[in-house]
Amino acid sequence: MNYADIKFPDIQDGEGIRVALYVSGCHFHCKECHNKEAWDFNFGKQFTNETVEEIINLLKKPYVQGLSLLGGEPLEPSNQEGLLPLVKRVKEELPEKDIWCWTGYNFDTDILNQMYTKSEISKQLLQTIDIIVDGQFEIEHKVTDLAFRGSTNQRKIDVQKSLQKGETVRLKFGDENRYETNQPKIMYFQEFKKIKKDLTKQDENNTISMNFNQIDPLNENPIEPERITERNVEESIVAKSID
Ligand code: SF4
Repeated sequence: MNYADIKFPDIQDGEGIRVALYVSGCHFHCKECHNKEAWDFNFGKQFTNETVEEIINLLKKPYVQGLSLLGGEPLEPSNQEGLLPLVKRVKEELPEKDIWCWTGYNFDTDILNQMYTKSEISKQLLQTIDIIVDGQFEIEHKVTDLAFRGSTNQRKIDVQKSLQKGETVRLKFGDENRYETNQPKIMYFQEFKKIKKDLTKQDENNTISMNFNQIDPLNENPIEPERITERNVEESIVAKSID
């Protein structure tokens, strides 16, 4: 498997601060796709054991909520094989991290009734994924204000509930709260939103430097020492990418 990019820190593709992996290869060729270069299965770099280590190490940061799989098409059969060792390690070593996946496949017809029942690799892969956003991008149904979706046909799906029930269970508005914990990762996200209001703090690269060690974004008190194990972490977040 090849991959086009690893984005970190990523705050667009799912909730909280994330590691986003963009795999290469997609046969859907949706009209006006933003990632056309990643249609080619040979685009980008080879996905190696070192890449897996790199992603695992990024996910270990305490403020990171999870992994996002995008593309290209993560559920192309060859990409499923490439991703399986990674997602298994995430669930074994970092079970508190969630996994989101964007796919052009339809969850009911292609995933639940085909991949999950007919492919052992798909079955194992799907058992590690928390949320799937399904469906090809449809330019005629394009929207800019739906969270994490590009067109109205796309749905946010609770994968594990769907597998248990044998039918598609959509993630309804408000259900996301169950992913919000007392971990700092979500709170930082709220803090980024707050900071966005003060654009005078942006530098010429349109970034805001954040010191993760300074405040608790939830109540603005100093962070209790046990809340974050990795101290003195400074990251820059691209302000313009915050919704
Ligand atoms: S499924 Fe995604 S990556 Fe593939 S063509 Fe459509 S929008 Fe582009």
